[in-house]
Amino acid sequence: MIERLKLRGCNAYLIEDDAGTFLVDTGIPGNLRNVSKAVKEIDGIIITHAHYDHAGSAYEISEHFSCQIYAHEDDHPYLSGEREFSFRGFVGNLVKRLEKLRKMRNFHPKNVSKLHLQSFDIIHLPGHTPGSIGLMSEKVLICGDVLRAVRKMLFLGKTEVRASSRNFNWNNEVYAKTLYRLSEIDRITVMPGHGDQVDVDGDVIRKLAERMENGVAEIQEKNP
Ligand SMILES: [Zn+2]
Ligand SMILES: [Zn+2]
Repeated sequence: MIERLKLRGCNAYLIEDDAGTFLVDTGIPGNLRNVSKAVKEIDGIIITHAHYDHAGSAYEISEHFSCQIYAHEDDHPYLSGEREFSFRGFVGNLVKRLEKLRKMRNFHPKNVSKLHLQSFDIIHLPGHTPGSIGLMSEKVLICGDVLRAVRKMLFLGKTEVRASSRNFNWNNEVYAKTLYRLSEIDRITVMPGHGDQVDVDGDVIRKLAERMENGVAEIQEKNP
């Protein structure tokens, strides 16, 4: 069972597994009330990646429910505050400044590989951040920011899948490789960190990968 919670900052998902009930992502700081209204008990928190808009409330929620937080080990230094992401461009600078206004509590997560879920495979999808992960159950993928869904025509409600912005990716080359890997799947239902769930074909993801790869080549040509 997967249930979406629309939190401030991002979509979070409650997943039911034989191993327990887990909250996937937590939004920006200040979401504890929204989560505790929606659910009485959780057995753990899984962070798809260490960005502020997904991990911001993890500490307060874990304290409230007395549960562990799990994340891929490559993102641990960013969650514990040892390292910081750098974002590029005007919007990137703006986001950095906004994050300083309401700081996220740092924490030391457990390694997500220690978590043994029955109905979900945890897959490493690096590029957006080094330790980005997705949770795959049959043909449904909770993907964090590896793919995002955008309402194309507001009133007709057509949802389109896009790649995550180059300016916010940790490594665009690695990210393009991850998209190629994902494109080998025929068709999946994507449950993204931002936007509504959407079905997507491998071909569509392959096009996003190609565009990302071409963008990387262009930048390398400009700055040899
Ligand atoms: Zn995000
Ligand atoms: Zn992100």
